[in-house]
Amino acid sequence: MKKILFLFLIWTSLGLAQINFDDYFFDKTLRLDFFHTGDHTTEIISLDELIEEPFWGGSKNNLIDTFNYGNYKFEVRDSATNSIIYSRGFSTLYQEWQTTAESKSVVKSMSGTITFPFPKKTANVEIFRRERNGEFASKFNYSINPNNYFIRKGLDNPKEVYEVHISGKPAICLDILFLPEGYTREEMELFKEDCQRFAEYLFDYEPFSEYRDKINIRGILSPSMDAGSDIPAEDRWNNTLLNSRYYTFDSERYLMTQDYKKVRDVAANAPYDQIYILVNSDKYGGGAIYNYYSLCITNNPMGKEVFIHEFGHGFAGLADEYVDPYTYEEFYPLDVEPWEPNITTLVDFESKWKNLVDEDTPIPTPSTEEYKDKVGVFEGGGYVAKGVYRPTQNSIMRVLSSPGFNQASKNAIEQLLKFYTD
Ligand SMILES: [Zn+2]
Repeated sequence: MKKILFLFLIWTSLGLAQINFDDYFFDKTLRLDFFHTGDHTTEIISLDELIEEPFWGGSKNNLIDTFNYGNYKFEVRDSATNSIIYSRGFSTLYQEWQTTAESKSVVKSMSGTITFPFPKKTANVEIFRRERNGEFASKFNYSINPNNYFIRKGLDNPKEVYEVHISGKPAICLDILFLPEGYTREEMELFKEDCQRFAEYLFDYEPFSEYRDKINIRGILSPSMDAGSDIPAEDRWNNTLLNSRYYTFDSERYLMTQDYKKVRDVAANAPYDQIYILVNSDKYGGGAIYNYYSLCITNNPMGKEVFIHEFGHGFAGLADEYVDPYTYEEFYPLDVEPWEPNITTLVDFESKWKNLVDEDTPIPTPSTEEYKDKVGVFEGGGYVAKGVYRPTQNSIMRVLSSPGFNQASKNAIEQLLKFYTD
């Protein structure tokens, strides 16, 4: 009894008491668009506009984020009580850009958007950014009047939804939304086939395979004028739905779009938790950012492996476990424990996969035959060879030919799947 009471006190003092969705929210989405502006070390977040969208694809039980992942987070507070009624962590392309050499000589703006269930009463939205030391700092504060007639309504251009794999109601399923990029009008049937093919790819990997009946997958049928994607270094510019391009941050295989507003406009046609952009291209490439979007190519021999690797980033915030000294500078400060569940700087390894490491496995763990299939702490990951450690010698977050995620990543993915499908 004592224990139960104690737990209850902790629960309520953290403000995690169950929030009744219908008390605070309508069953639709409010989207807040903004701009990130700054350079290598600075960032201002400024308001763009508010948009009402017809569907809410998220959970109605788990309104408060319990993972603390992401380089940003936002909180929605009920103005009358000042209690948190919704929160989520996320990361952005802008923050990645700030670790490139270009950011030292240029001030740049990039679009950002967040979505949350549409508040019934006046609410406050606050966006926080994770500082170098790992702590969050407030960057943006805005009071929302849900009756403000400047909140834009109506879909830009309503589009047909293709049901790929439907298991149940959006509130109790993980809803993945495939967006077509670089499929012409004549190729809409090809896009449907690719939706089916990539849905099956997802279910080939643990732990997604075990949640097949808790996952919905839909596609939006919206053609592009041209096939493929932009390739700036080859002077190839195509007219496509989502304005994606290779050579993001001048890395040939980093295929992304900076037109985040357009991505959200197209996605608004269906309920979703996760956006996945399928690019009709055979040139190797892809990218994904936590709770932002994932993107992969559909016609490359490595398409399946790229697809699942990128979803590890987009869905579960997994870090790359490989070494790549060329694209970023000090992506992970070595004196701070990164928030990503599958890498550690050993600053706070207790908070990571220590429970999976056998007592007789040395930390750090040598990359020898003896520890080939064991969970340990292997040096090299997060783009650097020294000071960042990964759970296994190989996994799909390090080498695409690996059979799948390592156990630390699987556990992180499964916790999120439970959170979405509760
Ligand atoms: Zn990656």
